Amino acid sequence: MSINRRDLIKAGLAAGAAGLAPGSGRTQEPMIASYRRIAVEETFSFPEYFEARRRLGSGTAIGVSSDAFNDVHAKLFEVGEGRLEAMDKAGITMQVLSFYAPGVQVLPAGLAVEMAIEANDRLGEIIRRHPRRFAGMITVAPQEPDKAAQEIARASTRLGLTGVMINSHTNGEFLDDPKFMPIFEAINEYDLTLYLHPTAPPPQAAEFLHIPGFTVGWGFGVEAGTHAVRLIASGLFDRFPDMRLILGHLGEGLPLWADRMDNRYEWETGLTGARALDRLPSQYIKQNVYVATSGMNYHAQLRMAIDVMGKDHVLFATDYPMEDQREAVEAVDSAALSDEERASIYHRNAERLFRITTAD
Ligand code: MN
Repeated sequence: MSINRRDLIKAGLAAGAAGLAPGSGRTQEPMIASYRRIAVEETFSFPEYFEARRRLGSGTAIGVSSDAFNDVHAKLFEVGEGRLEAMDKAGITMQVLSFYAPGVQVLPAGLAVEMAIEANDRLGEIIRRHPRRFAGMITVAPQEPDKAAQEIARASTRLGLTGVMINSHTNGEFLDDPKFMPIFEAINEYDLTLYLHPTAPPPQAAEFLHIPGFTVGWGFGVEAGTHAVRLIASGLFDRFPDMRLILGHLGEGLPLWADRMDNRYEWETGLTGARALDRLPSQYIKQNVYVATSGMNYHAQLRMAIDVMGKDHVLFATDYPMEDQREAVEAVDSAALSDEERASIYHRNAERLFRITTAD
């Protein structure tokens, strides 16, 4: 038996219609304008970036020509009226923008540093033009940790960007390497939220994570989730107990594995004596980690994420333009959530983490 995802969403929508639009009494078009919807994994780019990558001869993560992404690129470049219209149609109040993955992390270090500054300047300008529709995260070049830290300082104080987006590993190096500590010190100093976004698995993992047809749907998530576990294991959150880490795709598997990790962490470290952390793995996951829905428009998984992480640790994201904004809205609108849960996921958590003020 095959069940179409859209049919499931429609069925859920019909079943949950009564609770969808508080006070409106509508049942036909329940989703638009009922909530402030702030989407937090939404991307932009500019042609010069793709031209640079073309000159360097870099390909796509799934081995197809970049021409296959022409439609996506056009949407990435459009950050004016066209984008606002698409957001309005889907009922998205605000996008928290970041520079499209893999961003500057695949460029040579010098060019990466320059391109990050360019991306942040452009993002600052986008936000200045539409401060009630866009917020943004800082792009950094981890290739140069000290310069990345300087850019975090500049972009957070002068451009009004309130988060940092890093697309997982950089040339096969993970952020638990002590050389990246200046980046975390800057994130901590400016009280920013770090978003760890997936990217193509690094060379050392490519052999087993590049699975044709499954590279993105499995390989990317496993790589990003593993990166997050490495950060937890490194003691990062003992050094910076208030640091906030957002993972997309409902936590890249971490909510599912959290309690199992405690169980085996206690067993394994009991045998080896190598228990170096102040807290159990699930405590870092529930206290320091936040998860965004980005592309996970499924009710059972959303429910589990809220039950494991708490409603204050789940954020709404659509993954525009890789995924459909309207589909993401329909999924959360039609989920069996309390009004409190839905308001937290749609806007309260994003407002808190990205310091977005609602006053007009
Ligand atoms: Mn994404």
